[in-house]
Amino acid sequence: MLEFNLVVVAMIAAQTLAAIVMAVLLLGFFRQYHKSYLRHWMLSWAALAIFQVLSGLGLGLAVRWHIASDDPARIAISALAGIIGYLQIAWLLFGVYEILRRRPVRIRFYWRSLIVIAVAALVPSLLFIGPDAVSSTRYFMRVGLHSLISSAAFLGASYAFWRARTRRRGIGFTMIAVALFLYGIEQLHRFGMSAAWQFFDTQTAYIVYVGYLDFLLQSMLGMSMIACLLEDEREATELATVEMERLAYHDAMTGLPNRPLYMDRLILALAQAGRSNQRLAVFFLDLDRFKDINDSLGHSVGDALLKAVAERIRRCVREGDTVARFGGDEFTLLIPRIDQVEDAAKIAQKILETLKIPFIIGERELFVTTSIGITVYPNDGADPETLVRNADSAMYRAKDAGRDNYQLYAPAMNARALERLALENLLRKALSQKELILHFQPVVEVSSKNIVGVEALIRWNHPELGLLSPAHFISTAETSGLIVPIGNWVLRTACHQVKMWQKRIDPDLTVAVNLSARQFQQANIVEEIARTLEETDLDAESLELEITESNAMQNAENTIYTLRELKALGVRIAMDDFGTGYSSLNYLKRFPIDILKLDQSFVREVNHDATDAAIVSAVISMAHSLDLKVIAEGVETEEQLAFLTKQRCDRIQGYLFSAPLAPDQLEAYLLQRKSSIAAAR
Ligand code: C2E
Ligand code: MG
Ligand code: MG
Repeated sequence: MLEFNLVVVAMIAAQTLAAIVMAVLLLGFFRQYHKSYLRHWMLSWAALAIFQVLSGLGLGLAVRWHIASDDPARIAISALAGIIGYLQIAWLLFGVYEILRRRPVRIRFYWRSLIVIAVAALVPSLLFIGPDAVSSTRYFMRVGLHSLISSAAFLGASYAFWRARTRRRGIGFTMIAVALFLYGIEQLHRFGMSAAWQFFDTQTAYIVYVGYLDFLLQSMLGMSMIACLLEDEREATELATVEMERLAYHDAMTGLPNRPLYMDRLILALAQAGRSNQRLAVFFLDLDRFKDINDSLGHSVGDALLKAVAERIRRCVREGDTVARFGGDEFTLLIPRIDQVEDAAKIAQKILETLKIPFIIGERELFVTTSIGITVYPNDGADPETLVRNADSAMYRAKDAGRDNYQLYAPAMNARALERLALENLLRKALSQKELILHFQPVVEVSSKNIVGVEALIRWNHPELGLLSPAHFISTAETSGLIVPIGNWVLRTACHQVKMWQKRIDPDLTVAVNLSARQFQQANIVEEIARTLEETDLDAESLELEITESNAMQNAENTIYTLRELKALGVRIAMDDFGTGYSSLNYLKRFPIDILKLDQSFVREVNHDATDAAIVSAVISMAHSLDLKVIAEGVETEEQLAFLTKQRCDRIQGYLFSAPLAPDQLEAYLLQRKSSIAAAR
């Protein structure tokens, strides 16, 4: 006969207390770790605690106080216990799903299932509650069915954990699988008991034993949940550490090894090659004109292109070779074993050819070439730094040789680097010791044959080598940054000189000054020019600034902005060497320029090459339609002049009229022209 004595109450109280402790613990963990499976499990334990209390109360009402089964209090308690009992299972399963699947249950599904379960749970607990209902059937529907469903749920979950346990280290999953399994079996046993209810008279002592077993299994389940959480956390920390290490040694964008990892591998490979007397190759790659693409098409296109390039390079080499990104558009390659130098050359050739196939980025077709420098151990260096540095200088030689090629390192290259350095020092001295001078070349108006302006062209009066043209030193000045002070000096000197000629000879004379990219990108370039105009008292209208097409394109949007500011000062802008760069017509329209200077390479063959002739006439008419004046550079013959005149070119510049002249020579030339024109009148 079932009793409701102290032992039964104590057992229910112990189970309830254990469930509350678990719920509180999990709540604490949830607050700390914010894992939603912890919340589901916390709710599941809280539900279990309530379920225990309600079941105890139900038992008490029935057995102790003999309240009829259709009494509203018993019906309410039974309904509530039913709902809570099934929700408990649901929350447990949600938690299981989330920890195994590593993703949260979808919120709509979550709420819908809770509601469906709650409503469905009402049915078995409210059936058979009439006064004549057979008590055993009632018990079966309320307790037996719940046990059966819990058992199925727990056994299923146990199986899932058991299968997943091999995926992880630690005993958490195994423990939880075992606990769930035992719990499931115990629930199955309860189900059996409820089914056999009508045949046996259940003893209180038996219920109490099962209750304690329940308590034990619940505690085991609770502990294994906590073990799972701790292992989960440890795993997350380990994953984070691995990821951090990966990030420290890999380039985030392309996923390739970065410089430190490359150098590490190179050290190892060198040790290996040294021991086994083998050769090894180091490649240094730099994409050609990548900056132009980045600046004109934007960084996202640039990034996508770099990723695609990285992928292609990787496909050109074997498994054991290392492709690394050193930053920007620089890549390196480590080929740990080559038989002869020609092997390295073959790989380089393959890379060059693979990269020539156009890249499709978004809707665009992009063309990329690269310059490659190669060093081979032991010929070109014995330690990692030397090998990489020498490969880098070989790469520069590939650039100098016209890009899109590879160069094997030759010791002479170091000498070249030293030469460059020496030149830089000499140039620095030249600036301070006034060895730099300006020559001026007249610009002639085609229609009147009048000299309307001059272009200032720098020369270096070298104490030993004599007069050096800018080709010898401008690029060194640019790479070293010396071009900025030099450029400022040119501007000041040219403005000053022309102001003097305006006063003495021709008040309408203009002066053109070349600006380099580096100078143009100076933040204070506009101020600098305004100040120079003020100090030399030259009208802004008398100054023309020449920028080359490729300079302008380097950062097109910025160029437009700076040009607008310069125009606001009143100076005019000329696009120098037009036709040698690759500006799009679109930009040409947007650059606020006044003058196009047609590059001498087109003018040179204009009378002999039909294509050049066509280009020249097309450019002139296009420029006129954009309201730009055209200056033809490098005009040397009467035939060229005749052609240009026919095409209605506005101005010309070239040896036909005069080469660039020293200031005193030019002054004499100007005076002579002036007097001959006066005489002609
Ligand atoms: P550029 O601005 O296109 O200058 C025209 C170049 O063509 C000058 O060379 C000039 O001497 C040369 N030239 C003029 N007429 C003829 C001709 O009929 N036939 C031939 N074959 N050549 C002719 P230069 O003075 O050697 O200057 C070369 C380049 O150096 C210039 O090209 C310009 O880009 C740059 N440069 C010169 N001075 C400066 C400067 O002060 N600052 C900067 N940033 N660059 C400068
Ligand atoms: Mg020029
Ligand atoms: Mg030019």
